[in-house]
Amino acid sequence: MNYYSLNNQSPKVTFGEAALRGQAPDKGLYFPEKVPTLPDGFIKNIKNLSKEEIGFTVMKPYVGDSLPTDVLQQIINETINFDFPLIPITDNISSLELFHGPTLAFKDVGARFMSRCLGYFNRNAYHHTTVLVATSGDTGGAVANGFLGVDGIDVVILYPSGKVSKIQELQLTTLGKNIKAIEVNGTFDDCQALVKQVFADKDLNNKLSLTSANSINVARWLPQQLYYFLAYQQWKHDEPPVICVPSGNFGNICAGVIANISGLPVKHFLAACNANDVVPTYMQTAKYEPKQAVATVSNAMDVGNPSNFIRIIELFHQQFDSLKSMFSSVSISDEITVDTIKRVYKEHNYTLDPHGAVAYYALEQYLKEEGKSLEKGIILETAHPVKFPDTVEEAIGTEVAIPEEVKYLLDQQKQSILMEPSFEALKEWLMNR
Ligand SMILES: *Cc1c(COP(=O)(O)O)cnc(C)c1O
Repeated sequence: MNYYSLNNQSPKVTFGEAALRGQAPDKGLYFPEKVPTLPDGFIKNIKNLSKEEIGFTVMKPYVGDSLPTDVLQQIINETINFDFPLIPITDNISSLELFHGPTLAFKDVGARFMSRCLGYFNRNAYHHTTVLVATSGDTGGAVANGFLGVDGIDVVILYPSGKVSKIQELQLTTLGKNIKAIEVNGTFDDCQALVKQVFADKDLNNKLSLTSANSINVARWLPQQLYYFLAYQQWKHDEPPVICVPSGNFGNICAGVIANISGLPVKHFLAACNANDVVPTYMQTAKYEPKQAVATVSNAMDVGNPSNFIRIIELFHQQFDSLKSMFSSVSISDEITVDTIKRVYKEHNYTLDPHGAVAYYALEQYLKEEGKSLEKGIILETAHPVKFPDTVEEAIGTEVAIPEEVKYLLDQQKQSILMEPSFEALKEWLMNR
């Protein structure tokens, strides 16, 4: 399988090259030349397959010859070695819990798959590769955890001081080894701007072999398809599900769409957004107008120009009507989000995180529309509520218990490098490390 750039100015590359580069030289996103078709009988038989078998069958055509069979299987096994339970909340809404991985957010799957791929592709490299990433919270933890101990790779994470939750900060700053956390005295936008400057700087590129762990990387984007297959494996109804995905950069839902095109049954996709409503507006007006991101309680979705949406448009061959028949998008306010956490806890004894709550309300409204009374759906619960304790505890009026998997973090010592949001300071540190 080869990948082309959506800007059409760069040569086609293999999966391995696309994963190492991240973005094409013409700044376009890489896209598979052809969406593979699932093998005959795969969906019919899915309930009898292990999640490792599902993972291998789905990913094999995308990876092509870039990884030997046994290496791909090993990477899959390590990527999904935790649970993905589908939990019914009401008669017609179930929650696919994607927060049982090591950092309690769905980004673990993409980060684990990508880190292991890069580790393999770099196995004979003479120089270390530096992975640079800016985070507003979840990405950094997942990337750090995924790359921890991977030979030949150093990870540098930039995060905004005081703007990530306590657990998130500990996940970024306590790993040691090949992971360094830079605590920027500024905002997430400052962190992102610094990362962009680093990638554009000649001296740094000459000295370091730099790569990004951004969500546009095909090795992060494509394995997210597995959630949708694992959800379908647990689906007990005859009609396919409506799937509602809390969306920010639109990588996760775009993986669902590609899974559907390759043969996974899905009734409809609903992208649930917070106040950052570029895509909901596009679906109304057919005009795409990026905006400045605004801060919300579901902060992992505070994105004003969702990078992966262009891939969804490509998957529908730029046909707005065919996109519209399969995909819709709505914007949900913070007030409704908090109220939904409160209400679902009270009525169904289920604790949603703010991102899951955005999806829950969106799906609930969708299923109330005329003619949809028999449809049933799934929300993707993308993070554990304990990662957003301020919002969730205020809504439900009680503490969220810290899961066993992360309790150990509370005794760890934070180690970060405090820095002003200055490119000169960062450059100096990177050059002299
Ligand atoms: C990153 C993230 C999202 C948004 O996912 P995209 O693929 O960027 O649309 C939603 N919820 C949580 C908890 C996240 O960390």
